[in-house]
Amino acid sequence: MSDEMMRQIRQRLESLRRAGIERIPSPPPQRVIERSVRTDLAEPPAIAGPPIPRPSPVAPTSPAPVMLSTPLFGEPDIGGTEVPAEHRPDLLAALASEVAECSRCPMLVASRSRTVFGEGSPTARLMFIGEAPGAEEDRTGRPFVGKAGILLTDMITKGMGLAREDVFIANVVKSRPPENRNPTPEEIANCLPYLERQIAIIRPQFLCVLGKIAASTLLQTALPMNRLRGKWHSYGGIPTIVTWHPAYVLRTPSAKKETWEDLQMLMKRMGLKVPEKRPG
Ligand code: SF4
Repeated sequence: MSDEMMRQIRQRLESLRRAGIERIPSPPPQRVIERSVRTDLAEPPAIAGPPIPRPSPVAPTSPAPVMLSTPLFGEPDIGGTEVPAEHRPDLLAALASEVAECSRCPMLVASRSRTVFGEGSPTARLMFIGEAPGAEEDRTGRPFVGKAGILLTDMITKGMGLAREDVFIANVVKSRPPENRNPTPEEIANCLPYLERQIAIIRPQFLCVLGKIAASTLLQTALPMNRLRGKWHSYGGIPTIVTWHPAYVLRTPSAKKETWEDLQMLMKRMGLKVPEKRPG
């Protein structure tokens, strides 16, 4: 800073002091009204002041962030820039690392063995979304690998004629609730931003939501399952269907026929060939 600039600053401060102004107020922090696909969501919101340097887990070649904004009412907007396919694995890996460190829900952190981020193709046309990991998922760190997971895999492979690796499978909540209880509204609210970011990165063409808890969370509705399944919904502009959770189908064999009807509806819209007979 030059001597001339220093002189001008001193002069300005002196004139303010003479005017009785002892402190210069900081500008108010700006309200953040949009969330982007970031890797630092676990941190408190930004406040005015010098930035605190921290290493970024995202490679410097990462694309511009995908903007996410959740309105007070209505469906979330996952508009913004589509993430190029080649960047998606890195962004998902960075997000998975962030989830693995997450401690927003103390009860779940105390009882989980590990987080279950989800798995599948980063360019999946179809994403399945369940409720929360169970015991087997907690043990392996993979989604839908217990008995319900075997049924879901059958639905995908034998029913829809797809490979499990072709789709993406995730849950609303990434840590197992103890005793397989339902996640609390607070736990769901804590974890939902991770799922929103997964969806924004993958940007599937279709969503298949499994069970009441996932459906009521994503569609922001209290309607019962029999009013939600069998029709199309929209989540952030993505065509979405709701069907029974595979764990419920295992307990309630009569739900199998309705689940198959829902899958047929999905397959037709996806342009997949629908087998004439329901797979065993
Ligand atoms: S459920 Fe989600 S928000 Fe809660 S601790 Fe696990 S990863 Fe974090």
